Amino acid sequence: MVVEMVVLTESGNAVAKLGPATNEKDSEKLRLIEEVTENTDAVQGKVLAEILRRNAETEYLRRYGLDGATDRTAFKAKVPVVAYEDLQPDIQRIANGDRSAILSAHPISEFLTSSGTSAGERKLIPTIKEDLDRRQLLYSLQMPVLNCYVPGLDQGKGLYFLFVKSEMKTPGELTARPVLTSYYNSEHFKNRPYDPYNVYTSPTAAILCTDAFQSMYAQMLCGLLQRVDVLRVGAVFASGLLRAIRFLQLHWQDLCNDIAAGSLTTKVTDPSVRAAVAELLSQPDRALAGFLAAECSKGDWAGIITRIWPNTKYLDVIVTGAMAQYISTLEYYSGGLPMVCTMYASSECYFGLNLRPICKPSEVSYTIMPNMGYFEFLPQGDGHVQDQSQQLADLADVEVGKEYELVITTYAGLNRYRVGDILRVTGFYNAAPQFRFVRRKNVLLSIESDKTDEAELQRAVEIASALLRPYDATVVEYTSHAYTKSIPGHYVIYWELLAMGTSNGEEALEALQVQRDGVMARCCLAMEEALNAVYRQSRVADGSIGPLEIRVVRGGTFEELMDYAISRGASINQYKLPRCVTFPPILELLDSRVVSTHFSPAPPTWSPHRRPAN
Ligand code: AMP
Repeated sequence: MVVEMVVLTESGNAVAKLGPATNEKDSEKLRLIEEVTENTDAVQGKVLAEILRRNAETEYLRRYGLDGATDRTAFKAKVPVVAYEDLQPDIQRIANGDRSAILSAHPISEFLTSSGTSAGERKLIPTIKEDLDRRQLLYSLQMPVLNCYVPGLDQGKGLYFLFVKSEMKTPGELTARPVLTSYYNSEHFKNRPYDPYNVYTSPTAAILCTDAFQSMYAQMLCGLLQRVDVLRVGAVFASGLLRAIRFLQLHWQDLCNDIAAGSLTTKVTDPSVRAAVAELLSQPDRALAGFLAAECSKGDWAGIITRIWPNTKYLDVIVTGAMAQYISTLEYYSGGLPMVCTMYASSECYFGLNLRPICKPSEVSYTIMPNMGYFEFLPQGDGHVQDQSQQLADLADVEVGKEYELVITTYAGLNRYRVGDILRVTGFYNAAPQFRFVRRKNVLLSIESDKTDEAELQRAVEIASALLRPYDATVVEYTSHAYTKSIPGHYVIYWELLAMGTSNGEEALEALQVQRDGVMARCCLAMEEALNAVYRQSRVADGSIGPLEIRVVRGGTFEELMDYAISRGASINQYKLPRCVTFPPILELLDSRVVSTHFSPAPPTWSPHRRPAN
């Protein structure tokens, strides 16, 4: 049931208010949302003043001569807008063990390893202890909002597939790990008080298990055992939920055997996971095992989520941004359940919430909570930016319909830091703008959290194509596609080859004697080795990306592609080959010209410890 009250704001705009709350705790949280969104600009001013007051003596702010000023005008005039690369020398000093107040007056408690990379490695984002409270605060607003739209969520459980990833130590002994790994390992999560709206089917021990297989196996098994209690099914990103379904497709027989026997497979060895599962799996349940085996052996996976978990009201997964490519597959597996995107967040800062969670994926907007950090907005598409600092808009001043890059200032010491996300303003909730996530800047290919840009792809193709030199062959053109029709998805790179003395790819291939020494397969692996650490980790540790594929196309294919673009109105002088294609007719054209396909024969190199810069 959707309950909305339409209220006129001071400016006369109609706003659909959240509420009414179903209980006192929710009502307090909704009041907080009202308060901060009604006073967006004042809250932002206070947040900035508080950050600048605390960090006044940091080396960074002193470097720019802020001189203790805490107002926006001085801040904007003196402190530059920066990217991660500008901060890297400071971050490296902290990582190496310099404990002086470089960026933040509060000690840096750990680094969060972003899925965004710099020079091929995960960015290290400094964080301070109290950031956990801020993240917790945003999490605590999610259910009160959802409860306004979906009743009865306290009557059952959430089946969430949540995972931790490996951690590392910097040379200065600071822990570096992904933000969710940090959160799941925090007291906030591990010792969370009982909340009927936040009961998970997954035992905490299973979530905290670093072995991806054991963790997934235990979480799936517990989800199956409690199938009738499940009211919502989710993962952080859509790709994660699809991997869980793929896991079920591959392992349902083992899972059913365990349920029928009332004992856990010996493949799960972690003692704490075994103990947690044993609490649920104490005796055989042949009826449940039989039911599950019947559903899973049908060979028809359409609507499997609602067939197995019949009381599911919605899927809780992010399907905005790069994840939009998974919407139709999720619709297929869930029989069209609503997909709820609750939150917009990053390692650098948690930003905001979707205040109308039951909407179509294409209509999702996030309201940035003005108390989470200080936010500025770099307008996009205005031609050349003369004086960047002057052009940045404040949170309360962005204009509906315009696109901006998000720039943040955080308590942990990022000042005017470009996040790299492009957002479009879709409206306001009270005085707080709501944003559609448009895209991440410079991302060409993404299967899950990996983000490969054009320069990285170019470099990978250059490195791999060097292997063709002994055959007097070159890659004359290439493009790419994130293939997600199978799970896990994988990168497909289309190559058109030219070998000396031949005029088409087929002959080039023969010249390369591919069948004999597998040079093309080695090219696939060489490309993977050249891609960034997040890609390689996803391939090696998580198995969330499949082997890279090169599809060799016939000679002349890329010329045909250009002819096609020109026939659709592209200018012959300005035509630029797209380095990534998603448009189905173009993909069809490319695929119809494929002469051979090759897969990476082995996973690339990856270790939780960083590679020395090369
Ligand atoms: P990370 O720093 O690895 O946590 O990744 C954060 C990035 O993930 C953000 O800057 C966005 O680009 C993306 N992201 C996070 N939440 C969402 C969302 N709700 N919709 C689309 N993209 C998101």
